Amino acid sequence: DSVPLAFPSISMSSGERRWSDTTPYASKKSSLFQKLQSWFQLPNGHWELGKIITSSGTESVISLPDGQVLKVKEESLVQANPDILDGVDDLMQLSYLNEPSVLYNLHYRYCQNMIYTKAGPVLVAINPFKTVPLYGNDYIEAYKRKAIESPHVYAIADTAIREMIRDEVNQSIIISGESGAGKTETAKIAMQYLAALGGGSGIEYEILKTNPILEAFGNAKTLRNNNSSRFGKLIEIHFSETGKISGANIQTWKLNLRNAEDYKYLRQSNCYSIAGVNDAEEFRIVMEALDVVHISKGDQESVFAMLAAVLWLGNISFAVIDNDNHVQAVEDEGLFNVAKLIGCDIEDLQLTLSTRKMKVRNDKIVQKLTLTQAMDARDALAKSIYSCLFDWLVEQINRSLAVGKRRTGRSISILDIYGFESFNRNSFEQFCINYANERLQQHFNRHLFKLEQEEYIQDGIDWAKVEFEDNQDCLNLFEKKPLGLLSLLDEESTFPNGTDLTFANKLKQHLSSNSCFKEERDQAFTVCHYAGEVSYDTKGFLEKNRDLLHLDSIQLLSSCTCHLPQIFASLMLTQSEKPIVGPLHKSGGADSQKLSVGTKFKGQLFQLMQRLESTTPHFIRCIKPNNLQSPESYEQGLVLQQLRCCGVLEVVRISRSGFPTRMSHQKFARRYGFLLLESVASQDPLSVSVAILHQFNILPEMYQVGYTKLFFRTGQIGVLEDTRNRTL
Ligand code: ADP
Ligand code: MG
Repeated sequence: DSVPLAFPSISMSSGERRWSDTTPYASKKSSLFQKLQSWFQLPNGHWELGKIITSSGTESVISLPDGQVLKVKEESLVQANPDILDGVDDLMQLSYLNEPSVLYNLHYRYCQNMIYTKAGPVLVAINPFKTVPLYGNDYIEAYKRKAIESPHVYAIADTAIREMIRDEVNQSIIISGESGAGKTETAKIAMQYLAALGGGSGIEYEILKTNPILEAFGNAKTLRNNNSSRFGKLIEIHFSETGKISGANIQTWKLNLRNAEDYKYLRQSNCYSIAGVNDAEEFRIVMEALDVVHISKGDQESVFAMLAAVLWLGNISFAVIDNDNHVQAVEDEGLFNVAKLIGCDIEDLQLTLSTRKMKVRNDKIVQKLTLTQAMDARDALAKSIYSCLFDWLVEQINRSLAVGKRRTGRSISILDIYGFESFNRNSFEQFCINYANERLQQHFNRHLFKLEQEEYIQDGIDWAKVEFEDNQDCLNLFEKKPLGLLSLLDEESTFPNGTDLTFANKLKQHLSSNSCFKEERDQAFTVCHYAGEVSYDTKGFLEKNRDLLHLDSIQLLSSCTCHLPQIFASLMLTQSEKPIVGPLHKSGGADSQKLSVGTKFKGQLFQLMQRLESTTPHFIRCIKPNNLQSPESYEQGLVLQQLRCCGVLEVVRISRSGFPTRMSHQKFARRYGFLLLESVASQDPLSVSVAILHQFNILPEMYQVGYTKLFFRTGQIGVLEDTRNRTL
């Protein structure tokens, strides 16, 4: 709604302030017409800092950094902060909290290699995509001695260690963000600090070596995309009473959500026996790491045999054998190699890949598979061999790092987890990830609430006046039985005639009165998450929710004689937990019941939350400033979208929903005392402060007077600060 004025420039002195201007504050204060600055959004979405030249109350004339002068509607302007707040190291300190101010502050710091900023209790880390001089022993020493106060992963790790020792409570460092935002690097940086402070036994070396193993297998050719982004990792580092590392434990879980299409990599890869690991140097590092965590040479060979089996499975092809398009696995090199590698009969493998045993009433029947069904069966088999292998490796690593099952109140867990996602099209994967993040957010809110409560009570202020948000309603939408998203999905997944569309309709039928749910056209629906609304397209939901691994395959794997002991044991375990019935197995009786993917995910999430519940959490949100992996570019839109998704603004907002601005009586009296028009009888800081509050008509509900500090609602200090600036 901006109207460019006919006269191009009213007055633009050469020293005008620009977006990244770092001119010292004092030199700009001399102007007699010191005016407020405001953010103005250009038609391309970019925010610019404009100087208000005149304002009528409904319209303002502003000048932009490029010399443009515009007449704009007042309501299109967003308040900017006074210059003294440029680059504050905690977003809570901003007087005016709004998106452009947060973006500006982070950018201001980022330009000076200050990639870390606090957002209340959360650490925001912006990926520098270059080496920044912030790490290493000198820095570790400095943070240990508290010689540096600038926000840092080291500072978070340091707080975690101190609180662990002081309170004898387990700690957790929860790192989230998009793929490529820097989560894994951040986790390593935190581990470095913990290893440096708690090292000595040598086990810290072993712990650091788990990274290349997990990364190597997490990035295996077959699963590259989804695995690297979809496996969550929780490393629990245990400490002795003296604060030394005594052992560790790693838990991983994957969203088992890979599509059949992903296995096209396999078919294209033309792999040979130890393919997928073709880089000699990386291979050497991984082998060395496997030695360090005490995996025997024999077991290492078996590991690679399993990998080869997965790759060979991809090469198995099928031939049509009748007029109904039923197929049979071709007896070739692929089939032969897989059977040999996993240790089963060729015929059994062939049968498992081409048929499905079913029980209809009391008759056992054998159904032949069509090409699509057979390829799905094959891909599901490859997927489960791979995930069994991965789980087995993690278990071996844990044995090597074991400290026993004692929970001593002296551990720090580092969680590397995929953050909230919102794309143009969102599917079952986003549905699960966002549900997990909704749970983490609740954990966060409750923690924050507790922290705030403690501080208010300590300073003796009225706690009842502080309200906090909770996202329990949204969690109920997901979890309620029988009328919640997950239950309804499971129910529809078991109906033989259920489709994504019937599922969507069922949601609309049962949930439309829920305030966190919105109907959409066709087969879509919207959930109001804490981080914003996300529309999900139900296409593929039912199929992805059903576990495709057939019982026939499970039986085959559990009977095979491969050399890794117990590798397929976990498959059978899953079978013993059984609330959910899959559609293809319903006829098979109780022993064929299988958990849906959604329900399994929920179970794993609950386990994770249970572990986290007993810890004091520390949050790090990683942000990717551009999609080019470039150290130069900071894309406002991209950063903003992530800030919204990882709830940074929300966090600051919640933190500020009480009385976020705090200033000691002394400081307040010193800073604003000179503004008093009448002298105050008593010169003690409290009396002076109260007199200032009265003179400025700050409403009683806008502040609280504590024993040592004044507590203000958001923005109140900004008003005082503006007056002070005009007067100075
Ligand atoms: P994620 O685990 O979130 O997918 P990574 O931790 O693998 O992302 O980071 C992706 C890349 O970004 C790294 O390979 C590295 O090049 C760069 N990077 C991330 N964090 C830092 C950092 N603190 N300093 C320098 N480079 C970094
Ligand atoms: Mg990663």
